[in-house]
Amino acid sequence: MSFKTKLIQQLTSFKIPHLASIIAGAIIFSTFTLPLFASEGSVNLYSARKEALIKPILETFTQKTGIEVNLITGKADALLQRIKSEGRNTHADVFITTDAGRLYRAKNAGVLQAIQSNTLNNAIPANLRDPEGYWYGLSMRARPIFYVKGVIDPKELSTYEALADAKFKKRICIRSSNNIYNQSLVASMLAADGPKKTQQWANDFVKNFARKPKGGDRDQIKGAASGQCDIAIANTYYFGQMISGKKTDQKKAAEAVAIFWPNQKNRGTHVNVSGAAVTKYAKNSANAQKLIEFLTTQEAQQWYASANYEYPVRKDVAATDLLKTWGDFKADTINLDQLGVNNAEAVKIMDRAGWK
Ligand code: FE
Repeated sequence: MSFKTKLIQQLTSFKIPHLASIIAGAIIFSTFTLPLFASEGSVNLYSARKEALIKPILETFTQKTGIEVNLITGKADALLQRIKSEGRNTHADVFITTDAGRLYRAKNAGVLQAIQSNTLNNAIPANLRDPEGYWYGLSMRARPIFYVKGVIDPKELSTYEALADAKFKKRICIRSSNNIYNQSLVASMLAADGPKKTQQWANDFVKNFARKPKGGDRDQIKGAASGQCDIAIANTYYFGQMISGKKTDQKKAAEAVAIFWPNQKNRGTHVNVSGAAVTKYAKNSANAQKLIEFLTTQEAQQWYASANYEYPVRKDVAATDLLKTWGDFKADTINLDQLGVNNAEAVKIMDRAGWK
């Protein structure tokens, strides 16, 4: 870790600075502001992705461009909150987070700026970026159905909609409606099916829950493997992490289930992205754009997608061998911006259905 990175992490580690630390901060900043935050040779990145999933590719960027990247990592919602409260004084030039619903939230909060880039527009399919250029998808994940092998015949499965069928009563594990991934899934159904049908679906779907929603996506797969349910909903990269077997119990759980790609005969399986945006008050906006463009190069896409078992957003970069074993699938091509647009309505539908 470079001296600058360390210093920035220290300087920005207080959430709500007391007066004393504000004054201390002001003194330090008056000395260091220029070289740290306004230098043409750097870019400051707030990333909701874990350091291991991004740091190495940032180092490659620095080697190639000479532009130093100051990385701050944190939880998605906390980082957005931080950019909001820092306002014009934010150090963030680039914000990276997961889920188009969150990227839309950041756009709506007024903390991003639109950028226009032919490089980005050529590299990233139009449905995986904001129509106005406020954010750009960097990696793609799907949220398919996982079923317990030998218990569910995949012929019984077809669509997300069909999971509301009474034959699946108390057989499905899925996490809470607070979770943005589920909100985005329901938002995509709203776009496809409309509010009335989606509400009816949610009401019936909830009756099929095997247990009160709890835990993360991995816990749903574990729940299925341990016999608590026969079907689980989870993002593909969690399955990739589990099956790759860093933890034996997770590997065993993942081996008990298989992927079913829903909605292949109509709109396709629900997908989402991790993405990047330039902040509204970026001091290094040119470098910010350079960094995002770099992350969509073939080389970066390959590394970035494989580091977290995700799909590249670029069509000319192949998925890893592991992901290929899951088979090709048709992905829903709805503009992911709609997941944000429909988010509030999706949350209301889930609440009314009693989805905890
Ligand atoms: Fe996740």
